[in-house]
Amino acid sequence: MTEVCDRGQQKPIDQPHLCDQRRASWDMFLVLAKASPSLGPQVAVWAQTMAYQLHVAPPEALLKPLSVPSRLLLGPGPSNLAPRVQAASSLRMIGHMHKEIFQVMDEIKQGIQYVFQTRNPLTLAVSGSGHCALETALLNLLEPGDSFLVGANGVWGLRAADIGERIGASVHPMIKEPGGYYTLQEVEEGLAQHRPVLLFLTHGESSTGVLQPLDGYGELCHRYQCLLLVDAVASLGGVPIYMDQQGIDVLYSGSQKVLNSPPGTSLLSFSNRAKHKVYTRKTKPGSFLMDIRLLANFWGCDDEPRMYHHTTPIVGLYSLRESLALMAEQGLEASWRRHREAMAYLHGRLQGLGLQLFVRDPAARLPTITAVVVPAGYNWRDIVDYVMDSFSIEITGGLGPSAGKVLRIGLLGCNASQENVDRLAEALKEALQRCPRNKL
Ligand SMILES: *Cc1c(COP(=O)(O)O)cnc(C)c1O
Repeated sequence: MTEVCDRGQQKPIDQPHLCDQRRASWDMFLVLAKASPSLGPQVAVWAQTMAYQLHVAPPEALLKPLSVPSRLLLGPGPSNLAPRVQAASSLRMIGHMHKEIFQVMDEIKQGIQYVFQTRNPLTLAVSGSGHCALETALLNLLEPGDSFLVGANGVWGLRAADIGERIGASVHPMIKEPGGYYTLQEVEEGLAQHRPVLLFLTHGESSTGVLQPLDGYGELCHRYQCLLLVDAVASLGGVPIYMDQQGIDVLYSGSQKVLNSPPGTSLLSFSNRAKHKVYTRKTKPGSFLMDIRLLANFWGCDDEPRMYHHTTPIVGLYSLRESLALMAEQGLEASWRRHREAMAYLHGRLQGLGLQLFVRDPAARLPTITAVVVPAGYNWRDIVDYVMDSFSIEITGGLGPSAGKVLRIGLLGCNASQENVDRLAEALKEALQRCPRNKL
């Protein structure tokens, strides 16, 4: 239509403005209607519809080509796409029930089992970002009135608590100052006091840059008949995690952080213990789209024939499959090592600029996302804007409890390189020279 109509001559939208092509087809219909009486009623209906005029014109903005800038994404996510993942996103469409996509889904399942280090049969990808995986976990694991213990040392625990409240669970957040993690002793006190059915912990607390240790937490939870749910959205692939050996009952992660995939798919796995809790619920979970039993069937995790549940993001699944393939080729250990080395190099460069790391305890620093104290006298937003406007590099400020306190730098997947750290350090150096500074 845009080839035929003259875009330059848009008339006011309250006036009839049929373009020539449409006027020609209208004339054609009138001719046909006269010629063939049997077409009469259809033409009458069509003529009625045509009596309306468009009130909403085609938006000018959509008549221009799409334009996307080139940026180095060194915030807490999303990250840049790996070239092989990018290429997968332009592959042709097939149907969501074709045997070839079921094959892709099976390969994704195996990839998730590898990166999670689990043999859980109930392992799949959900259609949505990290929040979708969190909601899927909580909607299925919690029933109204269930006691839910939440490690809230940053924004993710607060969100888990919020979702728990929406479900009607009895939520017990263990609020902690941003920058800290939970010791086994603190968790045990919470378990003993609240007798929860579920504990939530964030492995990589990306709003504060904290790495939560996980050794022994699963075992501790099980002694109190509690399940352990872990958010590994920001850490998976960059930091060691061993779902089965660490006794994690439900684990989830996202596609757009270390995996360098587009946002829109998330990884999720349930242990047999967690599965038992879900399959013996008294009530249906409050979401059809996120019902794990229906998803499990669609992902071929049970012995029943696969039934249509919803249309999966097929192209997103191609990308996710390629991200997991890259991780399988490269090996988890190599990926963990690369992130640790990139982090150490970044920390050195930041300290060279006189910047201070937000997390005091070096062992508790998350390799994938580093939180830096906003340097005295500066507004964090000036620094973030300067780096973006002058260098096309994204870093971000804090989030939730860390807002205003920190700058956050992500080195995720293929972005975790010395070269990228050097580019950022140059940008930060100039930002510190040029951004306004209050005299204290
Ligand atoms: C990014 C992130 C999420 C949220 O993921 P979305 O994909 O934005 O929904 C959850 N948890 C952590 C730790 C994250 O870093």
